Amino acid sequence: MIPSNISPVDRAVSAIKSAQAEFGSSLAVLTSCQREGVVTIDLALNTLGSVRVMTIDTGRLPAATHEMIAAVEARYGITVERIRPDQGEVDAMVAGHGTDLFYDGVPFRNLCCNIRKVRPLALALKGLGAYFTGLRREQSETRQNVDIFDRTASPVKINALADWTAGDIASYTREHQLPESRLYAEGYTSIGCEPCTRATAAGEDERAGRWWWETDDARECGLHFSPTGKVERTVDVLLREILEKVKTKT
Ligand code: SF4
Repeated sequence: MIPSNISPVDRAVSAIKSAQAEFGSSLAVLTSCQREGVVTIDLALNTLGSVRVMTIDTGRLPAATHEMIAAVEARYGITVERIRPDQGEVDAMVAGHGTDLFYDGVPFRNLCCNIRKVRPLALALKGLGAYFTGLRREQSETRQNVDIFDRTASPVKINALADWTAGDIASYTREHQLPESRLYAEGYTSIGCEPCTRATAAGEDERAGRWWWETDDARECGLHFSPTGKVERTVDVLLREILEKVKTKT
């Protein structure tokens, strides 16, 4: 149990030490090199001495994020492991639905995220005990209940900054002179793939710039029935079609 009456930094360090006691060196930091990710890397390296650092290179990242990855490597003298999607799966998806399929609806956005992020990440995390993320409760409504140790995830997901505020992140970044993406100065408050992220306006949710074109109605995925009669989401149908195409090619 991590005491709540200590500073955010001490709570995060305490979580990192607990993770080390439980998982030894079977740990990694997964980051998209946003401010939270860099703070996590800084705390993890200071506490553990060394730790694997991974990022998902979807093939659609903005140039500013590639610059950030290079800045992190230079500052800490590490190599950030790039997790990349299967090129055959990407090619089949693009051939069938176009490069910017995500604008065609939530199922297509989910398909793209599945192929470029979810599937390669699942492969990369295999065999790991736990991994650190930069998720914070304050970032959005859907993150309000994020636990520091998320044991429902496999491997265990450790959100060491779960209870940090945006102010805590900004102070730590400033005090430790950490590198930060130039996109923050352009009004971005959350940074993902280039075509799926925009700057946010004052008062908007921090993650409002992600998939900004999706309305609540559009978030409905719809249901389909599989050949065996099982209910499936549209994205499951689309994904199966892509994987079958890739399989017949190999
Ligand atoms: S964020 Fe956009 S471009 Fe990136 S994987 Fe998801 S849908 Fe594709």
